[in-house]
Amino acid sequence: MSQVRDYTWVQDANCAGGRLNDFFVEAGRVASNSVQQLCKKCPVREECVIDTYSSEFASGGYRAGFSPSQRRRLPLAKVLDVIRRESNIYRKTRRPTR
Ligand code: SF4
Repeated sequence: MSQVRDYTWVQDANCAGGRLNDFFVEAGRVASNSVQQLCKKCPVREECVIDTYSSEFASGGYRAGFSPSQRRRLPLAKVLDVIRRESNIYRKTRRPTR
């Protein structure tokens, strides 16, 4: 019996309503800097990468800051470590708003 997956997090994605074609690049090429920054600052980056690793349909394209070849090389635990480290760096470098 299959479970219905919760995709409510997608509403908060930085790429929601955006040009998803930009997330698919030819093999051997890298995603644009703007796409990389979109993912690095995305509030649902962890949900995105967990979904990517658990979905056979999400194997292509640049997701959560990682290319398909990077995801094939790195286990999910390692990718989550990187995301959490980068998230802390991003939070520390962000200027406080008044
Ligand atoms: S982390 Fe995932 S949900 Fe967020 S912008 Fe990147 S691809 Fe979209």
